[in-house]
Amino acid sequence: MTSIDIKISKKLENGIEFTCQMCGKCCRGFNEGEVYLYKDDILRLTKFFRIKGKKGLSDFADKYFKLVDDSFFWKEPGAQRGKTYHYKTIGYKFTGEDENCHFLVNNKCSVHKARPFQCRSFPFWQMMVSSRKNFEDYTRKCKGLQTLKGKFYTKEEILDWAKKEYEIEKKYFLEMKKNKFNILKIYPFLSKKNLQE
Ligand code: SF4
Ligand code: SF4
Repeated sequence: MTSIDIKISKKLENGIEFTCQMCGKCCRGFNEGEVYLYKDDILRLTKFFRIKGKKGLSDFADKYFKLVDDSFFWKEPGAQRGKTYHYKTIGYKFTGEDENCHFLVNNKCSVHKARPFQCRSFPFWQMMVSSRKNFEDYTRKCKGLQTLKGKFYTKEEILDWAKKEYEIEKKYFLEMKKNKFNILKIYPFLSKKNLQE
């Protein structure tokens, strides 16, 4: 069960066709954003690479992860007002002049089966589903959105992706809040190097 009502923009109300055209554009040039990685994403990736133990995880994190800014709006049950909390989460480090994802090889995702939720749920992120403007901004960059051909997604399926994203972020936020926003309590494998970058 999800606990939020997400507004869907008119553009998506009747569903859309979308299939990624594998141009790799959204896997590079991340100066415009970040790829967040939450617990399940990290687990999937480390399983994929058969990373074992705290040291293995720590080395993997040093190479591929960095800390990035994250935020979440939260209203305590019964409270009149909520507020936006700011804290850190894990994101990909990018590499090279073009800021490529490390896992983009020959323009293709080399970890396709283990790619993070954020990659698999595109273009049905909450901020795109609710805002026509955001959707149009991304359309300028994404061939799949320009073409709008391929697999058909109903309104319900689109909303389901956006709600799943909300729930993942909420789960992480509540865990961080419970741990007084100390990310090391959640990810003890993070090294000083990660924390200083
Ligand atoms: S994990 Fe794959 S889909 Fe996600 S940014 Fe990297 S190359 Fe792209
Ligand atoms: S920009 Fe669009 S078409 Fe290109 S890889 Fe990303 S999702 Fe696929």
